[in-house]
Amino acid sequence: MEKIIVCIKGVPKPGSIKVDPETHTLKRENMELILNPNDRPALEMALRLKNTYNTEVVVISMGPPNVIPLLKYIYALGADQIILLSDRAFAGSDTLATSYVLAKAIEKLSPFSLVLMGLKSIDGETAQVPPETASLLGIPSLTNVKDLFMERGKWIAIREMDYGEEEIEVTPPIVASVSPLAFDYIRPPSLKRLLEVKTKEPLICQVKDLNLDPQRLGLQGSPTQVIEVFEKKIETKGLVLEGSPEELVEKLIEILKDKGLIKF
Ligand SMILES: Cc1cc2nc3c(=O)[nH]c(=O)nc-3n(C[C@H](O)[C@H](O)[C@H](O)COP(=O)(O)OP(=O)(O)OC[C@H]3O[C@@H](n4cnc5c(N)ncnc54)[C@H](O)[C@@H]3O)c2cc1C
Repeated sequence: MEKIIVCIKGVPKPGSIKVDPETHTLKRENMELILNPNDRPALEMALRLKNTYNTEVVVISMGPPNVIPLLKYIYALGADQIILLSDRAFAGSDTLATSYVLAKAIEKLSPFSLVLMGLKSIDGETAQVPPETASLLGIPSLTNVKDLFMERGKWIAIREMDYGEEEIEVTPPIVASVSPLAFDYIRPPSLKRLLEVKTKEPLICQVKDLNLDPQRLGLQGSPTQVIEVFEKKIETKGLVLEGSPEELVEKLIEILKDKGLIKF
């Protein structure tokens, strides 16, 4: 089987998000990042397939250099190669520009039989990158896959649907996003690999390495632009009722009636 490629995203650690007031984009440089939690099942699926079919797992991420510790952690989990796509020209990319860069990097890694991604990120949450990347590569896209295996040279995928499960047979190569509920057990990194990773650095690729069209990158290559970003303020107003227990019950019933929450 040809290699498996996994795309992972570094997302802001909850509570550490800063927005650029000029461009209305997230300030990703120097931001504390965690691995997008939905990408762990994709990695687990790749590593299980690696064990079964004795194939190579290559992990790529597009983002600023602070993604490197996450890629090193992924190497410790068992990935064979880690690659960071990082260039100032990528800043401000929307999902289409991101998918374009990923697709070009994936093309360079050909031949491959499978690209795995998380179902969606926990910051952008569009779930657009996997199908957009598949479309740009011109190969089939399957979403919300919970199991995947090879039979007579074809991928057999089990997809989670609203009404049950669906089994699909598809010719490789494909892009699949993995269901967050695919696995009960997700492996921790191995000690041997954690020691090895100290000297392991990701391959860093820039615009010049990927033969990219500058018009399709960053803010200028992004058809969706953020017009405004604002912080949602949640105000809770407390109401203190006073009186005897009987009076309090009466007052409470009146309030609930006024709000239409009870009728009698
Ligand atoms: C309308 C709109 C406008 C935006 N405009 C801007 C902007 O102007 N500037 C800006 O900085 N950001 C912008 N973003 C955010 C930017 O689009 C996302 O960071 C990025 O494109 C990934 O989209 P997502 O987080 O929704 O990923 P999803 O599609 O939800 O992610 C699904 C999976 O795709 C893979 N994936 C996603 N991103 C990456 C990545 N970078 N590297 C590797 N794998 C990845 C992962 O496996 C992930 O689990 C915008 C988003 C939207 C919706």
